[in-house]
Amino acid sequence: MDYIVLNNGVEMPIQGFGVFQIPDAAICEHTVADAISVGYRLIDTASVHGNEHAVGAAIHKSSIPREELFVTTKAWISEMGYIQTLRAFEASLARLELDYIDLYLIHMPFGDYYGAWKAMEELYATGRIRAIGVCNFNSNRLMDLCQNVKIIPAVNQVETHPYTQQTEAMQIMQSLGVQTESWGPLAEGSNGLFTNPVLSAIGRKYNKSVAQVVLRWHLQRGIVAIPKSVHKERMAENFAIGDFLLSDEDMAVIASMDTGHSVILDLHDPKEVERLYNI
Ligand code: NAP
Repeated sequence: MDYIVLNNGVEMPIQGFGVFQIPDAAICEHTVADAISVGYRLIDTASVHGNEHAVGAAIHKSSIPREELFVTTKAWISEMGYIQTLRAFEASLARLELDYIDLYLIHMPFGDYYGAWKAMEELYATGRIRAIGVCNFNSNRLMDLCQNVKIIPAVNQVETHPYTQQTEAMQIMQSLGVQTESWGPLAEGSNGLFTNPVLSAIGRKYNKSVAQVVLRWHLQRGIVAIPKSVHKERMAENFAIGDFLLSDEDMAVIASMDTGHSVILDLHDPKEVERLYNI
């Protein structure tokens, strides 16, 4: 497994595992235990997923030392603001039953995220968070945040997959020293990703599945990806991408699939923003 080094020197596994849409505690705990046994060391959850307790239980029952795991959680919109984020962090930590978080993220670029960031900077200074970052910040918001804060975000977790490649946004992130992390790395299977003829043809060349081609493409772009699956065989498939290299030609073919816009969550749409506030 490869690691990338964040802008504060912390090492982060480049292959991670996400637990969105696994609300059932027993299934989530079992899923995380399977992911750890397959080899994943980065587990990505969020307070709004409602499964931090199950993630923590799987971590506690695993034989992997805590320092070998990289745990990410996130503060939701209702947890924005200085006091609210301080409280939200304690609540997440308690549900996870951990004494520190590796990466704490602002989940959405809405509400008083400046107040939240101040709280996160303070928590980071105490050593209870190893790195702080954001999610879903477009280039304007990220640049604005970076002009006003002491600590530059270590990570921006954004929708990134072959249909939404974030190429220009990644250049801005790189110029600011912010690591790109992909959520929905497999596009949540939308737009027929797993049967896409272009990706399937590339997969046939290397004797790999579409999921493996896409996850290898993320790896070669230097993006941390956190695919989710409740099936152990798919977790293993998604993890086994270290033994082949996509050619420059195939990378260029995938680059041509970009639509230039989101296909899962359009944060420019006021109705979507309103929906998120009501979760
Ligand atoms: P994803 O990882 O792109 O796709 C997950 C879907 O693909 C599931 O339906 C899964 O089904 C299926 N799948 C996984 N591997 C497969 C394979 N090898 N073959 C066929 N199907 C496969 O989507 P995601 O869960 O939305 O994104 C990953 C993580 O990103 C989340 O779990 C969460 O941690 C994070 N996230 C963050 C945000 C944010 O705003 N920051 C938003 C969304 C997600 P099965 O489970 O049935 O296998």
